Amino acid sequence: MSASGPRLQPSLFELSKPGRHSDKVPHPPKDALDRLPPEHRRQQPPGLPEVNEPDAVRHYVNLSQLNHAVDTGFYPLGSCTMKWNPKVNEWAARLPGFAQLHPMAPDDVAQGTLQLLWELEQILIEVSGMRAVTLQPAAGAHGELTGILMIREYHRARGDTGRTDVLVPDSAHGTNPATATMAGLKTISIKAAADGGIDLDGFRAALGPQTAAVMITNPSTLGIFESRIGELLEAVHAVGALAYMDGANLNAILGRFKPGEAGFDVMHINTHKTFSTPHGGGGPGAGPVAVNEKLEAFLPAPRVIREPDGRFRLERVGERPTSIGRMRSFVGSTGVLVRAYAYLRTHGASGLAEITDDAVLAANYLKDRLADSGVFDIPFPGVCKHEFIASASSIKKQTGVRTLDIAKRLLDHGFHAPTVYFPLTVDEAMLIEPTETESIETLDAFADALIEIAREAHSDPETVKTAPHTAPVRRLDEAGAARNPNLRWRPAVGDWTPCPD
Ligand SMILES: *Cc1c(COP(=O)(O)O)cnc(C)c1O
Repeated sequence: MSASGPRLQPSLFELSKPGRHSDKVPHPPKDALDRLPPEHRRQQPPGLPEVNEPDAVRHYVNLSQLNHAVDTGFYPLGSCTMKWNPKVNEWAARLPGFAQLHPMAPDDVAQGTLQLLWELEQILIEVSGMRAVTLQPAAGAHGELTGILMIREYHRARGDTGRTDVLVPDSAHGTNPATATMAGLKTISIKAAADGGIDLDGFRAALGPQTAAVMITNPSTLGIFESRIGELLEAVHAVGALAYMDGANLNAILGRFKPGEAGFDVMHINTHKTFSTPHGGGGPGAGPVAVNEKLEAFLPAPRVIREPDGRFRLERVGERPTSIGRMRSFVGSTGVLVRAYAYLRTHGASGLAEITDDAVLAANYLKDRLADSGVFDIPFPGVCKHEFIASASSIKKQTGVRTLDIAKRLLDHGFHAPTVYFPLTVDEAMLIEPTETESIETLDAFADALIEIAREAHSDPETVKTAPHTAPVRRLDEAGAARNPNLRWRPAVGDWTPCPD
């Protein structure tokens, strides 16, 4: 196994030769140009690359192999749930009835899609233990914003206008405080307790008539189930605030714990994580939001309505004036939602609980293997949910090798790195989420690779610090890439380089 894909690829523009093309493309009718009004015609041919079909296909297939992907290897990126994406989802999403439906098609010709969306809402209501669901948000972070905007509107509608604070544990995903800020509210960060869980006293001290909401990730970003959730939610509701659950870690509790029944008022679901859509390349995703009866009236519009005669339609403009309005164009990322539906239907209710059990088993197996090896620190060694933290803090002190070096060295072993340096509360953190879809052989091979790298850190630290040695690109200047992004391609001068300036 190796992550070393093909070499970096020249761009199609560099492969281009004037007049080269594939003859298999149908020629347009002779009068095609005459059918276009003159003012819409190009004066010059577009500056497109001219290549034949094999070169074009090889170009894109080779490019696709430069990145590590779950289709090519294990991808234990914590908090991201990089599980296998069943190919039946892709078949369903490509059915022409879904894929080729015009987004502005009238309800009459969109009955199948509307029915699928409505049924998906019902399944997510069941999964979350909530009252109603919107499928509009485009991703988890967008779902958070939708949920917090609904909470803001809930307080406002009651004339309760002094609520400005959102309480967030310090182990939270960065999107939580970002959401509060985008909604015009103030984030109050609460330090975690010594066992990694929520500090009940810390929350109680910060709660008051100024609190709009708390945002809790459960299981937490440390992979730990929050056992004090009942007491916390009681305290939150006692001061008139609402409780938001970041549901990105739903893969650890599916079919076993319903946030709505536990007393949360609203949560988002990352369908691309829990219900398997290829993600990690920046989208598209879908972040449905489930709410209880307190927030139902504020759901984004339009909702999908099922009429008494069984037909489906979208809400009409202005039909529900309490709505916070539209959060996204049309009805959401329909292609992703079709995949989620296919996934849920193939697993069924009993299958969902099995997903959770297997994900938790895989994470605990891997955690215990690393703990037994004695080479990594395991700061929270008790039973974890679907992910756990290993730390290279001791390795760094003894050898100078850091978590980043270990992450890069894993590429030479054919594995994607886990999430590194998150959560921020643990020194040299690696957040490892194996998911339920991997075999025990893969889990063992990954544990063996990590243990071998830890030993190599002692015997040959230089090799680890200069990894990767087999990947198509070596160490990147990540800070430079973020601060001075160079996103423009220019033709090469002299020797070919991938990024001339
Ligand atoms: C992934 C994640 C998010 C954000 O979800 P996106 O779909 O990436 O916007 C929020 N919180 C947690 C804990 C996550 O893991």
